[in-house]
Amino acid sequence: DMNRQIILASRPHGLPTASNFEIRTVAVPEPLDGQFILKNRYLGLAPAARLRMGEQASYAPPLDIGDVIYGQSVGEVIASRHAGFAVGERVMLINGGWQEYAVSKGGGAFKIDPALAHDSVWLGALGTSGMTAWVGLTEFGRLEAAETVVVSAASGGVGSMVGQIARLRDCRVVGIAGGAAKNAHVVEDLGFDACVDYRSATFQQDLAAACPLGIDVYFDNVGGTVRDAAWPLMNRSGRIIVCGMIAEYNDAFGAGPSWFPVLTKRLTISGFLMSDHLHHRDAFVAEMSAWYKTGQVRIREDITEGFENVPTAFIRMLSGSNFGKTIVKL
Ligand code: NAP
Repeated sequence: DMNRQIILASRPHGLPTASNFEIRTVAVPEPLDGQFILKNRYLGLAPAARLRMGEQASYAPPLDIGDVIYGQSVGEVIASRHAGFAVGERVMLINGGWQEYAVSKGGGAFKIDPALAHDSVWLGALGTSGMTAWVGLTEFGRLEAAETVVVSAASGGVGSMVGQIARLRDCRVVGIAGGAAKNAHVVEDLGFDACVDYRSATFQQDLAAACPLGIDVYFDNVGGTVRDAAWPLMNRSGRIIVCGMIAEYNDAFGAGPSWFPVLTKRLTISGFLMSDHLHHRDAFVAEMSAWYKTGQVRIREDITEGFENVPTAFIRMLSGSNFGKTIVKL
């Protein structure tokens, strides 16, 4: 069998374009001792892939030209010489890559239970998106009932889970999202208390009005001017969870606002990476799958079909045209 891979053809400047990517076809290898081969069925697209396309190291080393693009996948083991993974098992790979088949030695590989949820859900609510939300809130949020939690990119893979988890922890939850349709979805379908549109001319006032008691926890997925708007509303002993800055990934990171209020308001600003907390995965899956099964956590997926459409789906996500967790069905 042949394996189609999407590789980095050139480094993007600003928003990536189709010409930054190329499809390469290679033979699917036989597994070596200690390896297994996964046939990817779904890819989960992550903004972090954009960080790796630049020249500078971020929290991960940059891709080289010609490397397969980083991303999560879910699929089925089709050949194995690994004691822990048998043919026929379903597996989620943290870096299955933008390709039809992945070779794994078991690092960042997690068996999934098809009885608990459909394959694609293991990329979103029960995958890295849900786990990022859960870890950020559980480890760094110190949530107390009735506190106000604000999350940006609220309709997306991570943001939608942050708000729903915080609501289940009895907080008042306010989302920030782009456009009327996303705002309505976040409130009506996901059960947030409010959602404000950062593209509106009255965004700053709208956010203040939605948070009459200020902000106790700001879970930042966006950075830039959206974070600047949340900043003055932070309460004393507030927590800012710096999860991502998608608004800044396409451009060089700017100088940003003054951080003096960190001192004056005794704020805690926590940077974290989900991948440092993989030892919590069983606890996460137990809690989240129960919520998912009972309908207490709802999901929305933005599914594109066809391997060759991965770059388009990725560029749509970086421009905010995705609506829900971005997934490609192979
Ligand atoms: P996502 O939220 O499903 O999709 C990206 C969303 O970002 C878009 O739908 C868009 O929503 C918003 N966006 C894009 N450009 C924007 C801009 N210039 N200003 C404001 N909003 C913009 O993606 P995701 O996978 O869940 O990732 C969300 C964030 O979490 C990213 O920053 C990512 O890097 C981070 N993350 C961090 C970790 C970690 O371990 N720390 C792990 C996973 C993800 P709107 O239309 O609402 O603007």
